[in-house]
This record gives sequence, structure tokens and C-alpha cells, in this order.
Amino acid sequence: LRRQQNIAIAGAGLVGCMLAQLLVLRGHRVRIFEKRSAQQAMKSVDRRSTHLVISKRGWNALAAIGVADAVRSKSIPLRGRMIHGSDGTMTLQPYSAAGAVIDAITRSELNGILLSRCQNTPGLEIRFDSECVDADARNGSLTLQAGASGQLEKAEADWIFAADGARSSIRRQMLNREGFFYSQKYETFGYKELTIPSSDAAGFARDAMHAWPRGKCSLFAFPNHDGSFTATLLAPFAGEDSFEILRSRADAERLFQSRFADVSVLALAEDVISKPTSSLMTVNCHPWVFDGRLALVGDAAHAMVPFLGQGMNAGFEDCTTLMGLLDQHGEDFGAALAVYGAERKSNCDAITALSARAFTELTELIGDRKFHEMKKIELKLCELFPKAFVAPYELIAFTDTPYAQAAAKTEALEQMSKYIHARLGENETLHEPQDVPRIREIVRTFPGFIA
Ligand SMILES: Cc1cc2nc3c(=O)[nH]c(=O)nc-3n(C[C@H](O)[C@H](O)[C@H](O)COP(=O)(O)OP(=O)(O)OC[C@H]3O[C@@H](n4cnc5c(N)ncnc54)[C@H](O)[C@@H]3O)c2cc1C
Repeated sequence: LRRQQNIAIAGAGLVGCMLAQLLVLRGHRVRIFEKRSAQQAMKSVDRRSTHLVISKRGWNALAAIGVADAVRSKSIPLRGRMIHGSDGTMTLQPYSAAGAVIDAITRSELNGILLSRCQNTPGLEIRFDSECVDADARNGSLTLQAGASGQLEKAEADWIFAADGARSSIRRQMLNREGFFYSQKYETFGYKELTIPSSDAAGFARDAMHAWPRGKCSLFAFPNHDGSFTATLLAPFAGEDSFEILRSRADAERLFQSRFADVSVLALAEDVISKPTSSLMTVNCHPWVFDGRLALVGDAAHAMVPFLGQGMNAGFEDCTTLMGLLDQHGEDFGAALAVYGAERKSNCDAITALSARAFTELTELIGDRKFHEMKKIELKLCELFPKAFVAPYELIAFTDTPYAQAAAKTEALEQMSKYIHARLGENETLHEPQDVPRIREIVRTFPGFIA
């Protein structure tokens, strides 16, 4: 007979709620301590993105807790990126060669579904206005501060999970521990969320994420159910075309005219000036488990830039991986936690690095001819040798191939593309279809390659 464990989770964000649900389903008693009020948490008062993209790993977890249908009914399927060229053209780049879609949902809707599920689950208690200010991993206790009164209270638990986000205060307390590695990087770029009213988005396909990739200052937009789009303006904090010099409606109009001419700035200009600018950060740390009893999950363990839309998906996968380890170890939390960090860390390092690379490709390589040639060759390789090569995004979003394996396959694809690029000659350009036999021939000469 399995003994019911007493579990405390700091943070009722996306990952904290997911983990709580999965643990209650296994028969454990779970308490979540959340620093925000119930009202703030339900409304997801948050300066981050209004939209989140859910892909395979996220769906796996949502299905495991039985909310996939409720989430799907609120989400909008997206089949690709609609690229708005500087010349006004629109080109759809499908996310998947097989036609698979990813799904966009507003953060507040997803948070709302998970939170209300948690509030109505027997065996699960959420305490709002309860900020975790101290954690004693050795003895299994949390110190909580009540929002209004500031009163301190202790909570004991067999196991503690820190799901308190990218700026985790539990993780901060570990900084002085010998052997704890921690790095944090703020990008020199920020973003603002803007609303494109439905009247200005009539010609935009509703089953695509729209992108105006213009290097350092780019725009992305997700469809909403009411016909409007929520756009994210990415720009450097300082310098040319930066938020620093975007101070008036006239500045906003100038910027949109020069970079995003097919988006009417009339309704957006006010947003551009008045909306706050948010920052992007990457967090890397090790270990994730302290005294065998307290573990970091989600952004508290691995915050990444959002250019592959995997932060939450990876956080949900932390939770499903942990459940798999509990299965393997006969519900022995100590044994599962002993391997959890090692199992997850390499995979999360890989997706964090791939996300950072996607960010560099967008901001620095978008106008680079060689980069585009290499990408064209990569696509061709995936088409010609589907057993050997799969497009990286396909592996990340539509399979649950461990991220580290996806990164290794991405690396192999890039190596081959580089090899072919160097041998194609004639201005190193891929001329279709006449270069296809040549590509097949070159591939055969790659040391060790078996198609
Ligand atoms: C612009 C942007 C776009 C993104 N888009 C995507 C996407 O499309 N797809 C995707 O998968 N991911 C995306 N992400 C990443 C995603 O938002 C995060 O990975 C996800 O929110 C992490 O969830 P979490 O529960 O770990 O942390 P959080 O969502 O940050 O939740 C942490 C919770 O802990 C609470 N808390 C904090 N400190 C304490 C404390 N001391 N005591 C008690 N409670 C505390 C907070 O109030 C909060 O409720 C995006 C991120 C950004 C910035």
C-alpha cells in the first residue's frame, strides 16, 4: 500500500497547477502557496505574453489531467507562420510538412482552467496571498508571509516543489549553497503587447501566427476569437529603432511605415506609447534538487527566451517526466528526485540553447544570404531523406523526442547542410530542381552517412 505524501508547492502558475493536479491524481495531499491574490491569479495579471502556444509536450500533460478538451475549446489552431515581406507579400510557412498544427490560447484562459480545476479538486488546497519567503529543504518546511497582514506562518511537507517562476525566491535562497551554479541573462531586447483591432486585420489569415521578421525590430501577431490580433513588438531597449526613441505617436507611425507598412498603426500608436516594455531572460542553474527533498520545476529551473514557444511546454514535461520516474521507482519520491535533475537538466539545457539560437537567427541572421541558403538546403534534405533528417521545429513541437536528442539531430542536419553548401559551388545557391541529383551525390560522400 502506497503511503499518501504531504506535498507543498510554491507558486500556482501554469507549472505549479499542473504538478499539483498530477500528484493529487496519484493520491497525494497537495497544498499550493501562491503569493498573488485569488483575483490577480485568476485574471493572470501578468506583464508577459497574452498568448501561449501549446504543442505536443504540453498536450501530453493537459491530457493526463483530463483538461485537454476544455483547453482545446478555447484555443485557436495555427498551421504556420504567415511571413509578411517588406514588399507587402504574404507567404505561409507551414509548421509541419505533415500538416500538424500548434494551438494558441490566452494565458488567462489557460491559467483560469488550471486554477479552477485546482480549486475544485478534493485533496488539493490553494492558499492565495501566501508568499513563500523561506524554505528549509533539510527539515521540509516553508515559511509563508500573508499578503495583507505580513504575518509569518510555517508549513511542513514531506516534499517541496518550487514552481515560483523565473525569478524564484526559493532558488534565490540556494545561491549561497556551496556547489550551486546559477546564471541569469537579460536580453538587450524588450517587447510590448499591442492589439490590432479586427477592422485592421480583415486580410489576415486566422489560422496562422503572423510575422514581420525585420531583424532587431520585428512584429508577431496571434489571432483572437473576436477577430482582433494580439501583436508583440520586439525591439532593442536602446539604439536604432529602439524603445528608447519610440516616444510619440509620430515615432510609432514612422517605425510602422518603414517596417510594417501593411499594419495600420492608427489604433496601435497609443499602445506603442503607453504599454509597458517587458524584458526577456534566460536562467540556467544546477542542481535542481536540494537535500533530496526540495526540487525546482518550470521556469524556476529553466527560463528561456520564447522564440520556440517551449517554456511552458518544457515545464509541463518536467511534471510528466517526474510522474514517469515515480512510476519507475514505485512511488519512492526520494529515488525519483535523485534522478529527476539529471534526467531533465540536459534536455532543458538543449531547448534553452535552441530557443536562444532561434532568437539570434531572428535578430541577427534574418538578412544573411548564406544563412538562408543553408536553411533551404536543410529543408531539401528533410524532403529527400525523411528517415535521416527531420526539421528541427517538427521534432520540438510535434514529437516528444527528448530535447537533447532533437538538438543533436538539428546539429547533424546543420553539419550536412554546411557540407553540401560548401560543395554546391556556383555562388553557393540551391537551384531547384537541377541541384537535387547533385545533393544526393554529395550526401553519399559525407563520411558515415547512410540514407
Ligand atoms: C513573451 C513570452 C511568451 C511566451 N510564450 C510561450 C509559449 O507560446 N509557449 C510556451 O510553452 N511558453 C511560453 N512562454 C514561457 C511561459 O510563459 C513560462 O515558461 C511559464 O509561464 C512558466 O510557468 P511557471 O509556472 O514555471 O512560472 P510562472 O508562470 O511564472 O508562475 C509562477 C507562479 O509563482 C508565483 N510566485 C512567485 N514567487 C512566489 C513566492 N515567493 N511564493 C509563492 N508564489 C510565488 C507567481 O505569482 C506565479 O503565479 C512565454 C514567455 C514569455 C515571456
